[in-house]
Amino acid sequence: MATTDDSFNGLTEYCEDCDLETLHEVSVQIRTESTKEENAQFSREPYRVCECQRCGNRSSQRMNNA
Ligand SMILES: [Zn+2]
Repeated sequence: MATTDDSFNGLTEYCEDCDLETLHEVSVQIRTESTKEENAQFSREPYRVCECQRCGNRSSQRMNNA
């Protein structure tokens, strides 16, 4: 992202593509996993999305993983 934000949520994490620890932008997205409309309201899962600020690689991780 090219936007400059004072509240930038940066975090240093390991990036597989860069093969080193880089600055990542971290955000949380709510995704609906079910394809059945009747179940949609029960299947919204929060995902933690990390975007490498060096190579732009994105990775997401389900936050409810046991
Ligand atoms: Zn990277």
